[in-house]
Amino acid sequence: MKIICIGRNYSEHAKELNSEVPTEPVIFMKPKSALLFPEKPLYYPEFSDDIHYECELVVRICKNGKYIQEKYAHKYYNAITVGLDFTARDVQQRQKEKGLPWEIAKAFDGSAALGEFIPIDANTNIDNINFELKLNDRTVQKGNTNEMLFSVHQILEYVSQYFTLNIGDVVFTGTPAGVGPVNVYDKLEGFIEGQKLLHVDIR
Ligand code: MG
Repeated sequence: MKIICIGRNYSEHAKELNSEVPTEPVIFMKPKSALLFPEKPLYYPEFSDDIHYECELVVRICKNGKYIQEKYAHKYYNAITVGLDFTARDVQQRQKEKGLPWEIAKAFDGSAALGEFIPIDANTNIDNINFELKLNDRTVQKGNTNEMLFSVHQILEYVSQYFTLNIGDVVFTGTPAGVGPVNVYDKLEGFIEGQKLLHVDIR
């Protein structure tokens, strides 16, 4: 399976990192070994002093597809959750400055945390979904998919030009503003429409 991630998909988040607002989706991937399954802790990695949370809506692919058109993209996923795109911000900053790839900052073990998936159906409007992250019971990120620069369906069209989407692949669709650092003993909880789906402790 593939873990496909979209960067800078909310303009307020791009601004908070002093990044350009992109004109095309920014794509990167994480390996399967990056998965952090529900209720598992993230062990703070020794190579960073600045691990950040990025709370994102995640869709799960249910049908193989290449060159998916935006108007048919709704047929290619059937479950959503919230995920955390953990990022070693200090390492990422160094890589960016040197113009080097991001993987060591973005794709390390445990960097792709997933909540429990919930099924969606024809009544779900993917372009109007509220999600939220709490850090130690305090809300730190709030987003709605209607604030995305590129919608879920536009993302699937774009990504599938380059990479065949396969059943079981997951797509992290970008984080809204409000990212920040985590510390050992922090508790992170993610919600969709008020329903708690994700819980990660930092150890
Ligand atoms: Mg992200």
